[in-house]
Amino acid sequence: MNNVILKSIVEMTGQRDVDSLECSLVATLAEMVPIHEACLYKRLPQKDAKVVEEFVCLSISKNDMGENHYLWHDPGRLVPIDSNLAKALAVKNPVLYQVPTGIGLLIPMSCEGEIIGVLSLESTQGLSEYKALIEGIVKIYENYSIILNESERDKLTGLLNRRTFDNKLSRLLKIQRVTKEEDASSEKNGKPQRRYLGPDSFAWLVILDVDHFKRVNDTFGHVYGDEVLLTLSQKMTGMFRSSDLLFRFGGEEFVIILEPIPFEMAQKTVDRFRKLIAEHSFSQIDQITVSLGFSRITENDYPQTVLENADKALYYAKEHGRNCAYNYELLIEKGELVEAKEAGSVDLF
Ligand code: GH3
Ligand code: MG
Ligand code: MG
Repeated sequence: MNNVILKSIVEMTGQRDVDSLECSLVATLAEMVPIHEACLYKRLPQKDAKVVEEFVCLSISKNDMGENHYLWHDPGRLVPIDSNLAKALAVKNPVLYQVPTGIGLLIPMSCEGEIIGVLSLESTQGLSEYKALIEGIVKIYENYSIILNESERDKLTGLLNRRTFDNKLSRLLKIQRVTKEEDASSEKNGKPQRRYLGPDSFAWLVILDVDHFKRVNDTFGHVYGDEVLLTLSQKMTGMFRSSDLLFRFGGEEFVIILEPIPFEMAQKTVDRFRKLIAEHSFSQIDQITVSLGFSRITENDYPQTVLENADKALYYAKEHGRNCAYNYELLIEKGELVEAKEAGSVDLF
């Protein structure tokens, strides 16, 4: 096998999370195929979404020495689904079309039968002689992303596991930073569209912990406890938006990242979930309750700080009767909690 191809396979399968795999796919194609742009679009979870998210985008230009120069674009841009993209998603097969600089090629990519994204390549020349190579690389990506997807999920509940948390939150923070910067710049006209964050809207990090879960295990056994955790995760998947991120963080602790919404709505959402669980009748046990703490995610925060803040609000909820939900910022405002001056001194969980 050609050494370059072998090297690129080694590089792609050396990735440990899906996001890095996607960067690797795009970089590999940029190196092996004569293209000047490679982007990976991901479908949004909403069924009727009219846009896709530009997850990774790389522009390639030649410098004076004829060497490739690579430019990675900020992630998170929302791209309208035009007729070519709609066709690629509908026919689930590559679509070739004209662009001012040459040709464009859209390749739908699937994971376990479902289209997860579309790869977009632009080139000044025809790509037919690279067809088999592109298809092969995409296939390796698809197969490997199934394995990585599994490794990102908790075995019992199927929710994202803790290992993926830092990456997912860092990415969200980066997108928020870019969005805010663009919103702040005066020359917005003609700029690519991004998620609009109203001035009162923030993403929120919620930590949820089952109350007195040890008693459930001690009274009914571990298997029953597991069943409770499974039911809980199903209720989470059912109630939160498909664009919210749901993690099982450890034993009976879960983390939810809510997409940007105003504070009142975040408080209502967490309370609605708390009530849903308190009112659910679990067989054998009358009632199971959960306590929640949540904290605002701003673009300049470190994931660890947001977690610590939400955890303090959760601890407050545990100290104040359980089966309740508190917001960290409100507790600070009311003087119920004191803001830590130095981060990093708190032991989590
Ligand atoms: P609190 O209201 O203060 O949260 O009380 P708690 O009993 O829920 O808290 P504690 O941290 O003392 O106990 C958590 C228990 O969760 C201990 C352990 O038996 C149980 N647990 C942790 N992981 C699992 C799991 O995967 N399955 C089951 N069934 N139980 C688990
Ligand atoms: Mg706990
Ligand atoms: Mg608990």
